[in-house]
Amino acid sequence: MPSTVALSLPAKGAPFTLTEIERRPLRDDDVRIDITFCGVCHTDLHFGHDDWGGTFFPLVPGHEITGVVSEVGPSVTTFTVGDRVGVGCMVNSCGKCAPCTSGEEQYCTEGFVKTYSALDHDGEVTLGGYSQSIVVAEPFVLHIPEALDLDSAAPLLCAGVTVYSPLRKWQAGPGKRVGVLGMGGLGHLGVKIAAAMGAEVTLFGRSPDKKDDALGFGAARFVDTGASADLAGLEGYFDLLINTVPARVDVDAYLGLLGLGGTLVNVGAPGDPIASYNVFSLLGARRCIAGSSIGGIRETQDMLDFCAAHHITAEVEKISAAQVSEAWENLSDVRYRYVIDIATLTMA
Ligand code: NAP
Ligand code: ZN
Ligand code: ZN
Repeated sequence: MPSTVALSLPAKGAPFTLTEIERRPLRDDDVRIDITFCGVCHTDLHFGHDDWGGTFFPLVPGHEITGVVSEVGPSVTTFTVGDRVGVGCMVNSCGKCAPCTSGEEQYCTEGFVKTYSALDHDGEVTLGGYSQSIVVAEPFVLHIPEALDLDSAAPLLCAGVTVYSPLRKWQAGPGKRVGVLGMGGLGHLGVKIAAAMGAEVTLFGRSPDKKDDALGFGAARFVDTGASADLAGLEGYFDLLINTVPARVDVDAYLGLLGLGGTLVNVGAPGDPIASYNVFSLLGARRCIAGSSIGGIRETQDMLDFCAAHHITAEVEKISAAQVSEAWENLSDVRYRYVIDIATLTMA
C-alpha cells in the first residue's frame, strides 16, 4: 500500500504525532492528489475533542484540501496529472438515493462518507487532509479555477460552501437583508459571498476589532454582540440570518430581528443543544428556524466558479505542520483561517 506522512491524533486529548498512513491503491475511478494546503476548520477541533461523540481515533483531520493531481485511474475522464484540484467534506455517498441523484450528496439518506473519521463503504476509516496525499474517487474531486490560489482557496471547500449553500437556498441577492452571526472562517466568507450576491449584509460579532475587516469584506453594518450588545432598532429588519457561532446564542433575540417569513439558518454546530426558544418568537411573523449542512458537489463547483468570478478567497494565515497544535489552541486569534502548508509536513 502506498504510504504518506500525516499529522494524527492518537486519542482524545493526546498531542499530534507525525506518522505514516496508508492510502489505497488506485481504483479505476480514483484520483491521487499531492496535497499542497489544508485549512483548519473549527469542525476539526470538534472531532479532535470528540464534541459530537463517535470520533474514530487515530484521527487525521482536514477537509479543506487543495492540491495537484499526481495519478489517475484508467476510467477517470475529467482530471489529468497536474490539474489543480480540491476536496471538501465528502469522499463518498450511496449515489442512488434521491438527494444523491439530485446533486445533494450531503443529505444522502445513508449518510455521506466524511473525508475523515468515517467508515467508507470498503470498511476503511477515512483519513483527512493533514497529510501529504489523498486518494479520492473522481465524483468527489473539484476543479480549482485558475483565478484562485491554492492556499486561500482551500477554506472554500468547507467554510465557503457551507455559507454559499444557504445563501443560495434562501435567495440572498439584491433587495435582501442578510445577517451573519460570528466572523471566523465561515462568517468572513459569508460576508464576502452574500455581499457579492448583492445582498445588504450585517455582521453580528463579539469582537469589535473585526469591525473594519467586516466592512472591508462588504458588510454594510457591524453589530457588537459582546459586552455592550445592543440589538435595538433592528427588530423585524432581516430576511435571513446565517448563524455560524459554535456556541449557544440567544435564539429569541435573533428571531426578533427577522421580518415576516424570515429564516434563521444554523450552520454553527455546538456540541450541546442550541438554546431553547419561545414558540411565540416564530408565530408572530411566520418565522423559520433551519439548519444547513455543507453543500453538494455540483454546488461546491458552482461556489468555486462564483468565487473565481468575484475574486473571493479566504483571508488566510499560513502555518507549518509544527504549528498546528498551537493553532488549535488559539483558533479564535486567526484572521480568518489557518491553512497548513503541507510542504512542511515531512518526517525529516
Ligand atoms: P471559527 O473560525 O472558530 O469561527 C467562529 C466564530 O464564532 C468566532 O470567530 C467568533 O466570531 C464567533 N463566536 C461567538 N461566540 C463564540 C464562542 N463562544 N466560541 C468560539 N467562537 C465564537 O469557526 P468556523 O470554522 O467558522 O466554524 C463555525 C462553526 O460551524 C463550528 O461549530 C463548525 O463545526 C461549524 N461548521 C458547520 C458546517 C456545516 O456543514 N453546517 C460546516 C463547517 C463548519 P466573532 O469574534 O465575530 O464573534
Ligand atoms: Zn469544515
Ligand atoms: Zn445517497
